[in-house]
Amino acid sequence: MVTRALDVILLGPPGAGKGTQAKRIAAAFELLHISTGDLLRDEVAKGTNLGQEAKGRMNRGELVPDELVGKMLAKRLHSQQAALGCAYDGYPRTTAQAVLLDGLLSELNRRVDVVLFLNVPDGELLARLTGRRSCPSCGAVFHLTTQPPKAEGVCDACGAALVQRDDDREDVVRERLRVYREHTAPLLEFYRGRRILREVAGGAVPDVVFQRMRDAMGSVKA
Ligand code: AMP
Repeated sequence: MVTRALDVILLGPPGAGKGTQAKRIAAAFELLHISTGDLLRDEVAKGTNLGQEAKGRMNRGELVPDELVGKMLAKRLHSQQAALGCAYDGYPRTTAQAVLLDGLLSELNRRVDVVLFLNVPDGELLARLTGRRSCPSCGAVFHLTTQPPKAEGVCDACGAALVQRDDDREDVVRERLRVYREHTAPLLEFYRGRRILREVAGGAVPDVVFQRMRDAMGSVKA
């Protein structure tokens, strides 16, 4: 039996839970989780040329140029781990990026199968992001009030000291939300027009949201 690759985009504003849910979807469907934010933070941590170019923009809540992110994405998409499909988290963020992804996938005889739009009320997003604490070592994510670590400031999974991402400070979060509305929200219409957009209410605990996402994907996978 030949299994077709599955390519799933998680779309939604910053703080909607794309990262948490993309990891789960990737594990459940054996997909490669591609988070362009994580890839960029890696480049920044390693001090590469790309990282140096991206750092200032990321810290201000602006987008990194399409061309730089596109190259990074293409490399991942052509890797062996991407052969069964991918869960895209934080990509595409502009219409130009969506067009690039279409082109890259069509070279592989694939296409975007489904776009899951995680819809979370605006008022919740700010609280989610400013309370978020991340593990710089293993990538685990916590929240000061809704999902605190067992020991304050320490990662449950690996024991490293938790940090607040530079771009999770309130002024930067507001800019990220503005950028989302201006550049990324138009993608909802782009994919709705293709009839592959599924809306999932994201204002619930991760297990409940995950079940809703699986339900929304049901007919796609079959
Ligand atoms: P995220 O972890 O997805 O919230 O991304 C963090 C930051 O990385 C964003 O605010 C952007 O500065 C940058 N970034 C991540 N993905 C992209 C993308 N697809 N296009 C442009 N910039 C991106």
